Amino acid sequence: MQLQQVNVGTKLLADYASLARYGLMDQIRALAEPLQGKRVLHLSATAFGGGVAEILYTLVPLMRDAGLDAEWRVIYGQDEFFDVTKTIHNALQGDSTGLSDEQQETFRRYNRLNAEALEGTYDAVIVHDPQPAAVIEHARGSATHWIWRCHIDLSEPNRSVLDFLLPWLGRYDATVFHRRQYVPSGNGLPAAYIWPPAIDPLAPKNMALSAEDAAYILNQFGIDVERPLVTQVSRFDPWKDPLGVIEAWRIVRRSYPQVQLALVGSMAHDDPEGWEYYNRTVSAADGDPDIFILSNLNNVGSVEVNAFQVHSSALLQKSVREGFGLTVTEALWKARPIAAGRVGGIVDQIQDGETGYLVESVEECATATERILDDPQHARSMALKGKEFVRRSFLTPRLLRDWLALFNELSGNGAAVDELVTSLRVG
Ligand code: UDP
Repeated sequence: MQLQQVNVGTKLLADYASLARYGLMDQIRALAEPLQGKRVLHLSATAFGGGVAEILYTLVPLMRDAGLDAEWRVIYGQDEFFDVTKTIHNALQGDSTGLSDEQQETFRRYNRLNAEALEGTYDAVIVHDPQPAAVIEHARGSATHWIWRCHIDLSEPNRSVLDFLLPWLGRYDATVFHRRQYVPSGNGLPAAYIWPPAIDPLAPKNMALSAEDAAYILNQFGIDVERPLVTQVSRFDPWKDPLGVIEAWRIVRRSYPQVQLALVGSMAHDDPEGWEYYNRTVSAADGDPDIFILSNLNNVGSVEVNAFQVHSSALLQKSVREGFGLTVTEALWKARPIAAGRVGGIVDQIQDGETGYLVESVEECATATERILDDPQHARSMALKGKEFVRRSFLTPRLLRDWLALFNELSGNGAAVDELVTSLRVG
């Protein structure tokens, strides 16, 4: 068995030059020079659905264009494994359910299998999230440096599950988190680096789409494009709170009887729980013809997500836990008004009342949505400020720069990582 390689196509750094912050392209060129030809492997659980896949489809080709020999492979797993990793994911975000001995064994077994399937040698292996975190145990010799990139909110973890993972995390040369608050406590952990993820402004999901084209696409999904639409784009997951979104929308409808709701969520193959939550969302909608529940199964791909984001009067991201929340970044990049949960990385993206609204309850979410619908022009001017913030902070060239700086630091090339990387090194 070989680990499946993801075909990421080609992207050119030069295409991003006009969007990137002044000086960033020069930094990237300088940092890439000592890294020419270095072999880098990204290892993740899935090539479809969710933020990690979204990031890697752009980061990997841009690393290649910068001269690195980068590739992305997904680990092998069946439902029994992904049930366990979903339990781990939920527990790390605070759920009280722990792992049985059998589940721990399943996790070890699949990680060992995947480690055995890893071929070749690399200068660096970047392991994304907990699913493949234990591959290192049986494959340490395959790479000079191992880096664990965590994409989830680890601020209040279920300690028993975190303790289960810590012995593996301790073997890495470095860890990377979205926020300082996510760095776990525990002895023997490697240096942690903090930087947020990023979106690709040129990908079909985020590229410029006219209002007319967006409306044309939504019309095909049965949306009445003459009436207001509120949308949440998210996996069907309790942490994204689609049920809370439906409740908030029902409140908004009392003052805006014309308003429609779209819940757009893909089904990731490493998320068996997604179906259960999808069904719960469908029952909560109770057959209401003004609620549209759509997913990749209805052919909603990147361009369609783009169209929903561009067309909606208000975007919601009512998460109750959120590692970072790329959907928020995407909304702001499109200068769309947004109300989102005051949690995790969302707080780093939205300045409450300045670039969007931060909410903590169904009622607050409804009130914020009404404020957006009451004064669309004001909401739009707020979102435009948010767009500029995203341009400076959360576009892929910056993310590439941070990775290159870390590779230089680990290889002893003396990159002043503290100055270059978005945020400082911890510990
Ligand atoms: N996404 C998508 N289709 C969907 C739902 C989500 O393309 O039906 C994308 C979304 O646009 C975003 C990513 O998946 O780029 C979700 O990343 P985020 O950080 O918001 O959440 P995660 O799923 O990683 O928890």
